[in-house]
Amino acid sequence: MAAGEFDLIARIRARAGTRDDIVLGIGDDAALLAPPPGRQLVVTADTLNAGVHFPAGTAPADIGWKALAVNLSDLASMGAEPAWCTLSLSLPQSDTVWIDGFLDGFLALAGEHGIVLVGGDTTRGPLSVSVTAMGFVDAGRALRRDGARVGDDVWITGTLGDAAGALALLERDPAHALRTRLDRPTPRVRAGLALVGLANACVDVSDGLLADLGHIASRSGVAAQVEVDALPVSEALRAAFDEATRTAMQASGGDDYELCFTAPGAARASIESLSSQLDLRITRIGRMVAGEGVQALRADGRPWSSARRGYDHFAAL
Ligand code: ADP
Ligand code: MG
Repeated sequence: MAAGEFDLIARIRARAGTRDDIVLGIGDDAALLAPPPGRQLVVTADTLNAGVHFPAGTAPADIGWKALAVNLSDLASMGAEPAWCTLSLSLPQSDTVWIDGFLDGFLALAGEHGIVLVGGDTTRGPLSVSVTAMGFVDAGRALRRDGARVGDDVWITGTLGDAAGALALLERDPAHALRTRLDRPTPRVRAGLALVGLANACVDVSDGLLADLGHIASRSGVAAQVEVDALPVSEALRAAFDEATRTAMQASGGDDYELCFTAPGAARASIESLSSQLDLRITRIGRMVAGEGVQALRADGRPWSSARRGYDHFAAL
């Protein structure tokens, strides 16, 4: 149903909700926010473009969920507590059915994490959704990419490769069980918060494990060794692909939104109890060593290699 820009904004505003630290939310020229004294503000932004970051034909509710999820995942990887977000929407036409569906997904996830929409922008153009998310960390306590040390273990939450599997099956089986992992990633917010004080470095896996762990390695000035045979796999992925294909998806597929982190050996018991407390798989997959780059190894120590190391939007194909 066609509606004006202001009708759309009114629909968004009516459902946005509030928090005590929002002095002024949607409706003025800008939001007024009151960050808690003594904490640092963590700010991140991510855009989803139709056909690039979600398949054409993805349900509006799934687009809404994913647009927020990828940003919450960045807050999680910093160990931040989510607070506020803004939403910039570019829509081919003003469509209330679309916006209501979008908000269903977006606000369901927002409600789970106590993050509130405080503003944004609405324009006409190709379908594109851009979210900025803000959260808090205690001063100096954020999980960063540059804190890994030689001797650290490398860990990963959840399972890897599911979204890449869903993408590979898109034509043949668009409703495959793996599809929810592509459309509705679970941002590991509680894990990120609990890792403050335990992890030395952390990154969320959006472009493929080896590529994103490579960021920790280069920012920390150390190298990473990963045992590809130790990478956690879901039953659905194992059932759908042969071993070589799914291992490549786990090591280098994108859109996982799991947390990859490093921690000293002394933290192993705490990480294992965190895993049972959160009812979340957390798997030790390698270690940090002197040198640079990321080495992928088989269980017997031989090098493993695959043609693709991660998803780079600007890489020559
Ligand atoms: P301005 O023209 O001053 O930028 P707008 O008319 O674009 O203001 O927006 C009016 C209000 O609605 C502002 O508070 C803005 O933050 C909010 N807003 C606009 N689009 C969105 C959106 N997609 N999501 C959330 N808030 C929005
Ligand atoms: Mg204005």
